[in-house]
Amino acid sequence: MKHLTHWIDGKPWTGGEASQRGDLYNPATGQVTGTVDFAGAAEVDAAVRAAAAAFPGWRATSLVKRSAVMFAFRELVRQHHGELAALISSEHGKVASDAAGEVARGLEVVEFACGIPHLLKGSFSENVSTGVDAYSIRQPLGVVAGITPFNFPAMVPMWMFPIALAAGNAFILKPSEKDPSASMLLAELLAQAGLPDGVFNVVHGGKEAVDALLTHPEVRGVSFVGSTPVARYVSEVGTAAGKRIQALGGAKNHMVVLPDADIDLAADAAVSAGFGSAGERCMAISVLVAVDPIGDELVAKIAERVARLRVGPGDDEQSEMGPLVTRAHRDKVASYLDSGVADGAVLTVDGRAHPVTGGSADGFWLGPSVLDRVRPPMSCYTDEIFGPVLCVVRAGSYADALAVVNGNPYGNGTAIFTNDGGAARRFTHEVEVGMVGVNVPIPVPMAFYSFGGWKASLFGDTHVHGTEGVHFYTRGKAVTSRWLDPSHGGVNLGFPVSS
Ligand code: NAD
Repeated sequence: MKHLTHWIDGKPWTGGEASQRGDLYNPATGQVTGTVDFAGAAEVDAAVRAAAAAFPGWRATSLVKRSAVMFAFRELVRQHHGELAALISSEHGKVASDAAGEVARGLEVVEFACGIPHLLKGSFSENVSTGVDAYSIRQPLGVVAGITPFNFPAMVPMWMFPIALAAGNAFILKPSEKDPSASMLLAELLAQAGLPDGVFNVVHGGKEAVDALLTHPEVRGVSFVGSTPVARYVSEVGTAAGKRIQALGGAKNHMVVLPDADIDLAADAAVSAGFGSAGERCMAISVLVAVDPIGDELVAKIAERVARLRVGPGDDEQSEMGPLVTRAHRDKVASYLDSGVADGAVLTVDGRAHPVTGGSADGFWLGPSVLDRVRPPMSCYTDEIFGPVLCVVRAGSYADALAVVNGNPYGNGTAIFTNDGGAARRFTHEVEVGMVGVNVPIPVPMAFYSFGGWKASLFGDTHVHGTEGVHFYTRGKAVTSRWLDPSHGGVNLGFPVSS
């Protein structure tokens, strides 16, 4: 049985017994595999103090040296790629290829952060007034924190800390208490990469740790990724305490399929985007909007493909979909199959009957399900299910489909499948969603663009990584400076001067 504690000031915390601990599970077996200490205000304060003490030295470290630490960290993450993926899979349940993919996407942000000398370049205007120059610079905030969800235990922290650290901040990560091991390995790798003690810290726990971070006077900014109710809470409490906040929330991502689309391409995309990582992705497609008359054909093709999906433990390389993260979450997701049917939807594929290959009967299994003829008032539509349930809404026209997407309170990701460039262009223009795919079902932006949704999927106005990430972790300063010409009696430059 493993036991995890906090990472404070470059080492595991030795400051005393935790008053509360959480259990860690292997979702494929349902067994407890370890425990994790939960931080209270005292442990959070110790982490913030360590970060605050380390900040001045790290901030004063040259851009080139900070970038060199990121380059070294990148190499170490590459060397430990498999180990990280196995840790993720053992606590989250996702299959090995998904876990490896999430580390790869996180690495892209590290690579982006390696370019910090370029990213922090300011601008300069010479002679804005006679003998006066103006320039702008960006400086780190100080101690900043990241609070992250269970579904990407390595990638989502890596959306945040590489840029924050490279920009000169000290960072405190509060990962999900459900799968915290990846963050501990990342902390060790940062230390090996040469990051000074205290610049990166990890505190574990739940609401108590989050509240302590949100109200600690030394914490200047907080990045949050998780469900909408908690994102809203973090935004309100953190903003009231004077912090800079970016809080990314939940999602209900629609994939619109127009009648002219390549139906096989759309069916493949709906299956991989709906059931990959057991639907526990904030960019998963959870609603398919089939525009008449292709609904029946598309649903039949999806059902055929879903029946062939191999559900099994993440450490079996042949598994295509793993278990859900906890028993309670599995039961809640399954409850939407009953409520959907009670509300009038058609359960075309019932994942409860799907075979599981390997793994223990006690694992948190639920196969892929398709609920057809879902209508927006049903709870399977209004709620974020966050599991392997694809809801299909039938729409009479493009306009009806767009009205469904724009009527939804979330606005994280969406996709349109069509062979008509004009229709796709119109959709990207009209849809009220932050990330849009055209014949691409999960349009997660590359690290050098920024990731974030609209409406109830984001509180605050700055998206993560890319240029917006650099802006979030820095403050702009505009300097106006006047230096008198040496002819006014300054240093003798050895040139003839008028007297
Ligand atoms: P969650 O909101 O339950 O937890 C997120 C973090 O908040 C965790 O660190 C958790 O410990 C903490 N937390 C939980 N309850 C809290 C409370 N009452 N007060 C303070 N802190 C609390 O989310 P989750 O279940 O871990 O993750 C799944 C959710 O995250 C889904 O809603 C998903 O859509 C969302 N998500 C969004 C994005 C995005 O980019 N928008 C990305 C990944 C996940």
